Formats: sequence, C-alpha cells, structure tokens
Amino acid sequence: MSLDAVNSAIFASEECDQFARSVDGFLATHAAPEAIDRWRDNKRVDRATWAAAGKAGLLGISVDEDFGGAGGDFRFEAIITKAVGHRGADALTISLHNAVILPYFASFGTEAQKRHWLPKFCSGECLTAIAMTEPAAGSDLQGMRMTARACEGGYRLSGQKTFISNGQIADVILVAAKTDPAGGSRAISLFIVDVRGDPQGFRRGRNLEKVGQEGQDTSELFFDDLFVADDALLGGVAGRGLQQLMEKLPQERLVIAWQAMAMIERALDETIRYTRERPMFGRTLADFQNTQFKLAEYKTQAVVCRVFVDHCTDLLVRGALTPELASMAKYWASEELSKIVDGCLQLFGGYGYMLEYPIARIFRDSRIHRIYGGASEVMKLLIARNL
Ligand SMILES: Cc1cc2nc3c(=O)[nH]c(=O)nc-3n(C[C@H](O)[C@H](O)[C@H](O)COP(=O)(O)OP(=O)(O)OC[C@H]3O[C@@H](n4cnc5c(N)ncnc54)[C@H](O)[C@@H]3O)c2cc1C
Repeated sequence: MSLDAVNSAIFASEECDQFARSVDGFLATHAAPEAIDRWRDNKRVDRATWAAAGKAGLLGISVDEDFGGAGGDFRFEAIITKAVGHRGADALTISLHNAVILPYFASFGTEAQKRHWLPKFCSGECLTAIAMTEPAAGSDLQGMRMTARACEGGYRLSGQKTFISNGQIADVILVAAKTDPAGGSRAISLFIVDVRGDPQGFRRGRNLEKVGQEGQDTSELFFDDLFVADDALLGGVAGRGLQQLMEKLPQERLVIAWQAMAMIERALDETIRYTRERPMFGRTLADFQNTQFKLAEYKTQAVVCRVFVDHCTDLLVRGALTPELASMAKYWASEELSKIVDGCLQLFGGYGYMLEYPIARIFRDSRIHRIYGGASEVMKLLIARNL
C-alpha cells in the first residue's frame, strides 16, 4: 500500500491527480537516473533542467497568475516535493525555490519587487537561494554578524554566509543582514541581492563536499562592501527581517517534513522489494518474521507520520498552521526518517553499505533532515515554548 492511500481529503481532487501525473511525466524525462548521476558528478543540477521545469510550469506553482505563477497552493508544492523525493532527485531543489524562497517575495515584497522578480523566478530565468546561516550563527540566527550599512542610495553588505543551498547556481540571493551591527533581532533585514555576473564585492566560495546530496550545490558566500540599491530591501522597511523569517520558517519546516516523507516511502519500497528477492536459508529474507515485523513497524510509523503531515498541510492551506505544529512535523518526520532508513539499510546487510544500492544513498542523503531548517533540538525548543 502506497502512503498515498492514506491521503487526507485535501489531495482528493482531479486537479491534484492531474498535476501529480504531469510532475511525474516531467521527472521521468528530466530526472532520469542518468541525469541524477550527472548532477552528482557535476555537484550541481544543470541549468537546462531548471529551464525545462520553468517551461513545464513547475516553478512558482503557488505564485499568483498575475506574477507569472500558476495560482496554486501548498498542496501542489507538496506534490512536487513528494514526486522529486520518490525519484531520488532531491538535488533538484524546486521546493526550496518555490515553497521556501518565493513566498518571501510574494508575501513581503513591494508591488515593484513582485512585478520585477516573481515572473523571472517562475520562468526559471532567475534561480534563487536564501542566505541566513553564518559560520558563527546557525541555530542562533539573532547572533548573525553580516552587516548592511546604509549609504547614499542603498546599503553596503559585508560578511560571510555558509551552507547556502543553490549558492553556486543562484542568480538572486535573499540575504539576511543587520542594519545596525550592535542591534539585536530588530536590526535584521532581508535583502534581494542580484548576483548575476558576480558583482564586485561578492564572491562565491567553495561548493562544499557533503556526506550526501552531492548533486545539490551548497556554498560559502562572501560579501565585501557589496553595494545594493534601496530597492533591494525586501518590503522596503528595515528591521522586519526576523519577523519575516519567523512567519515563513514554519512553511520551510513543512517542506522538509514532506521531503522526509518521500524518502521514507522510497526506502520502504526499495526494502520491501529487496527482501522479497534476497534468497536466504532456502527462503527469502521477506519470509522471516523479524523482517515482516520490522517492516510492519516502519510502515506503521510512516503512515502515522504521513497522516500528521497531511493534516499540517491542510492547516497551512487554510492559513492555520502554527509554528509549533510545523516544528513537530519537521522534528518527527526527520527523526522517523533516520530511524526507518537505518533499519531498512540493516535488512540489506552488506549490500546496504554499497553506494550502488539506492538505500545507501538514501541513508547518506537523509541525514541532513535532522539538521537543516532548524535542528531537532531547536524544533523541541520551539515546541516547548508553547507547552
Ligand atoms: C546541506 C545543508 C544545506 C543548508 N542550506 C541552507 C540554506 O540554503 N540557507 C541557510 O541559511 N542555511 C542553510 N543551511 C544551514 C542550516 O540551516 C544550519 O546548519 C542549521 O540551522 C544548524 O546550524 P549550525 O550548522 O550552525 O549548527 P549549530 O547552530 O552550531 O548547532 C549545532 C548543534 O547544536 C545543537 N543545538 C542547537 N541549538 C540548540 C539549543 N537551543 N538547545 C540545545 N541544543 C542545541 C543541535 O544539536 C545542533 O545540531 C544548510 C545546512 C546544510 C548542512
């Protein structure tokens, strides 16, 4: 039974089914295993794939039609995230572009910022990244040191960011910086930084070597007195950055929960198939009660988790998802992912340790979910604040 069989009513529509089929069709063509291997070898997804995604209408699916999007909602983002994960094509970070970064522009951008940027993001002309994390400020975002000094006609950005997804390929980076270095959270603003052509004062650092997700680029970024004009300040009012982040981080956390759900389902599918084929003591591995019980446990955990993630999606679409519930979804789905994938890998024996087996890749790719978008400990902190 696919986890989709426990779908809540929110996905039960011809519109969702049709969209899921078109996403699958797109991925079958553009995210085939050879493409995924190529991305891994190049340590980035090629531009042609992004352009094709834009052409297929997958970018900006939940952006208003007025700004070049398809006017959908988060259900469609979940469908894309799930389909990408089922194919092991996680390096193609459409969900980051669409469901994490674009909402900042759509919700907080001035009319001029929306008119200027959103159509370019929806067509794939411009790819995006979001740069919050710094070497000395990850979980503790308020401790960021990056500055945006006001100057004639704009701001000068100085500082360093690290671990930035899409950092090598992005054309536009949403950068968090403090307009007053001594200021606390109220000094944080978000800046729309156009880095096409690598302007003076901006440098992309290394494409970092990671434990997994090698096909997706992750970078250090350096800013040295980079000038940005006044209209680069998201929303046009300084000091709202932390509030904007707090408002949008719950959706990012739900995206990560969906990524985790897709990986869990893929791990289960791979493991069920493998155990049925693996001969052992005159039977198959699947014939042993231990195997059946383990897989029954994992499946139950997956279904329970999926029902909750569906529920949170329903709440988000209705504008009622609280930060605590989003944190629970991210925390729970990513912790379950680690446990289930580890257990599945065990059933593969030595083959599970070989990278030519998908379960080994899932094992490596899945480890980050408990860390990025806020570590599990930070999720617990956010949940505990509202006990
Ligand atoms: C592959 C990858 C992609 C990423 N993409 C992006 C991106 O696109 N943009 C971006 O801005 N950032 C990105 N990040 C950064 C990511 O969000 C941070 O790594 C994460 O928030 C943790 O911050 P940190 O790494 O500085 O760890 P730290 O803040 O140093 O935390 C280390 C550990 O301390 C513990 N801890 C933290 N806080 C608490 C607490 N309050 N109580 C108890 N224990 C605690 C946790 O176990 C945590 O894992 C990415 C990271 C990776 C690895």
